[in-house]
Amino acid sequence: MAIIDARTLPDASPLEADMVIIGGGLAGITLARELAGGPLKVIVLESGGLEIEPETQALYAGSCVQKADGAKDRPLDSYPAQSRIRALGGSGHVWGGKCGPLDPADFAERPWIPYSGWPVTRAQMQDYYDRACDLLEIDRFPLEWPTPTDQALQPLALDDEDGFFPAPRVFTRISGRTDKPAFDRFRTQFAEAPNITVYLYANVIRIRREGDVVTGLDVACLDGKRHTAKAARYVLATGGIENVRLLLASENLGNRHDLVGRFFQGHLTYSNDSDTQREGSTFAASRAAPLDLYATAQRFEPHCVIGAGLPAQKRMKTGNFTATLFRANFSNADATVGADTQTLAKTATKLDQGQEQSNLLGFFAMTEHFPNPDSRITLDPSQRDALGMPRVRLTWVHGRKDHEDLERSIDGLANALGASGEGRLCWSLRRDELLAVSSASRHHMGTTRMHRDPRQGVVDSNGRLHEARNLYVAGSSVFPTSGIVNPTLTILALTLRLADHLKSEKKAA
Ligand SMILES: Cc1cc2nc3c(=O)[nH]c(=O)nc-3n(C[C@H](O)[C@H](O)[C@H](O)COP(=O)(O)OP(=O)(O)OC[C@H]3O[C@@H](n4cnc5c(N)ncnc54)[C@H](O)[C@@H]3O)c2cc1C
Repeated sequence: MAIIDARTLPDASPLEADMVIIGGGLAGITLARELAGGPLKVIVLESGGLEIEPETQALYAGSCVQKADGAKDRPLDSYPAQSRIRALGGSGHVWGGKCGPLDPADFAERPWIPYSGWPVTRAQMQDYYDRACDLLEIDRFPLEWPTPTDQALQPLALDDEDGFFPAPRVFTRISGRTDKPAFDRFRTQFAEAPNITVYLYANVIRIRREGDVVTGLDVACLDGKRHTAKAARYVLATGGIENVRLLLASENLGNRHDLVGRFFQGHLTYSNDSDTQREGSTFAASRAAPLDLYATAQRFEPHCVIGAGLPAQKRMKTGNFTATLFRANFSNADATVGADTQTLAKTATKLDQGQEQSNLLGFFAMTEHFPNPDSRITLDPSQRDALGMPRVRLTWVHGRKDHEDLERSIDGLANALGASGEGRLCWSLRRDELLAVSSASRHHMGTTRMHRDPRQGVVDSNGRLHEARNLYVAGSSVFPTSGIVNPTLTILALTLRLADHLKSEKKAA
């Protein structure tokens, strides 16, 4: 129906609908798009305007420290404000658009990984992944990836027993950074449907409830206006950090078992290079044929990373792991990798002497961040934003197991490559250096985890809060485990699954 600036409404306006979606990021918009043109009257309450504005963005400020076993704490106080965007479209304004599905292993309960296991399987997610790919205008990811026929695209010959496999990654243009007009259409066109109203500059500051029913929302504008919103059902879609903030600030909603905010998972990228402008370690491929499947001419082309499937994880007692290969210039002042990686390249070439030709590539490693209750978001009541909301404090913890896992995975891949004659990996980092050289992703996962049992999860397998009959959560906060792929395709797939559930629930009612 419309996109309305909530500041232009008379003070204390009562907003009413069948459903309120809190947050107009990629998750909230995907849900609203699914409901557009349908029988439900839907309101989207979005904190920001159409573009990024400093005053609204400042509402996201908080504090953050990264901790790892045996390493010095790393303060990252800029992280809560700089790792997400508060405007219609959310972090979609700046995201890189890199997409891939979680692997089947990511959904599995793996006895060696505490808290692992999703209440849904990869196969059950296939239809939702397909629909999410269609929305993002990218090719679909089949469950079984066909082996390419082109010689330059042949995967590394790591056999099934090794359990390492090529995991595909592609880039969508639906991003404010890549194709602004396409992104603008994605985030606004749905609001032309007669059943949809988007309110901008509408900050939800409190969720009200009576018993196990949410009864309304308090909405605040930065100009001082206050409104209320009421619906039969509500969906919280404010991102993996803010979902927690709003629940905890609403008298600990959903937190009966002290789970809201815990299990924060964020991916880290590890490379040998201490030069922060570059990332790299050395991969020496023995075969002369180029590894175009993995290392494309440009960094932002479809490619595969080397992933660790369930057999590899079982054997090594590790979680998911990826090595991303890239073409690098090792030889002169214009080198694309830093001095540390260049030194390793010399070692790799020596190790590979017996082979006909060595094909040097750069690589960086990522490992699954294991669910850990001590890795968590809490509120800091002594620090408040312009609307009086307590600011967040993120304590991002990597335990001993996380770093042991990285080392075992690197060893495992290096051994598999050596045994198959496909190449060599060079890696020189000590464990106590890992945190300092890592770079932090902007993936915020796990903080309202999904589990059938209310003692082990904040939301049930449909995304409904265990503690409230009519409140659902969308976004990566519901992920029980983080895998090692960028999360947004899965956010969209889960949101489409939630949309189907909400539609069928309406029919059943
Ligand atoms: C620089 C960067 C690069 C990235 N690159 C990738 C990538 O390549 N691939 C990938 O998969 N992911 C990437 N990500 C992560 C990706 O952007 C997020 O996973 C995704 O956008 C999350 O969508 P969301 O809708 O769940 O949350 P958000 O995008 O955080 O949206 C939440 C929305 O809620 C609104 N909101 C917040 N609080 C309130 C409130 N109190 N009341 C009302 N509204 C509120 C916000 O304004 C926002 O619009 C990247 C992120 C960044 C920052």
